[in-house]
Amino acid sequence: STILYNDRFIDRSQGKVDMEDRGYQFGDGIYEALRVYNGKMFLLDLHMKRLERSARELRLALPYATDHLAENLDKLIKENAMDYGYVYFQITRGAIARKHRFPEQPIDTVLTASVEATDKDEDLHADGIKVSLLDDIRWLRCDIKTLNLLGNVLANQEAFERGAADAILHRDGVVTEGTTCNVFMVKDGVLITHPADHFILNGITRIFVLQLAERLGIPVDERTYTTAELLAADEVFLTSTGVRVTPVLQIDDRQVAGGKPGPITNRLLEAFNQDVEQFVTA
Ligand code: PMP
Repeated sequence: STILYNDRFIDRSQGKVDMEDRGYQFGDGIYEALRVYNGKMFLLDLHMKRLERSARELRLALPYATDHLAENLDKLIKENAMDYGYVYFQITRGAIARKHRFPEQPIDTVLTASVEATDKDEDLHADGIKVSLLDDIRWLRCDIKTLNLLGNVLANQEAFERGAADAILHRDGVVTEGTTCNVFMVKDGVLITHPADHFILNGITRIFVLQLAERLGIPVDERTYTTAELLAADEVFLTSTGVRVTPVLQIDDRQVAGGKPGPITNRLLEAFNQDVEQFVTA
């Protein structure tokens, strides 16, 4: 396959990372993953805005403007003749002799991007999934989309070993998010999700689902809630670029939300799929 390396298109086999790349040594970099439908990138502008925010928060200079990056990603999709799948890209602070502090002289950042083709509706679990409730052991800037994902990796592995599809994380009993997704619950007709502060990544799908809820006239409350509230919720679902809207029907050994996808989840999922369908045919 073809990958993007800085501003060049090269074969995947030629893509090599320097052993002193700060992304490799410190996880000092940022990334985005977005979905491609019918050869087009979905919610591109929101992803680029979030990338710029992540870069600002880490004081990392993007190698070139996001408009140019979007053009390059478009080319990458065409080079790989991909209709459906993902684009993944990351930018590290660059390669230099190992020292924690930033390089004294500016060095070139390293941008890499690749695609992964999927079936048209890959990863959609509209029937619902089981998750595990685990401690959120991550740092206090989960709002930045950095390459440092060890807290997510460990929890995701633990969930897998418990036979669950993902973990829902909590800090001292307050539900934050999943290891790869945001978490929503419904109580008495109100859609509730953790506010977009430093404890969660403000998912692009989260933002999109909140817009859908507004359009559908579903009341929304962005507030924190406890694991006890989660277990007593009428509906629970996850959102991400990968899973869109996925109902949660079991948390560890407990059935939640009556064991089947709820009406508000279904309405949001339907609206989501309709918007994607429109995007595909537009
Ligand atoms: N939270 C975390 C920790 C994630 O890794 C992701 C996926 N990137 C999300 C939430 C969902 O974000 P998005 O909707 O932009 O995919």
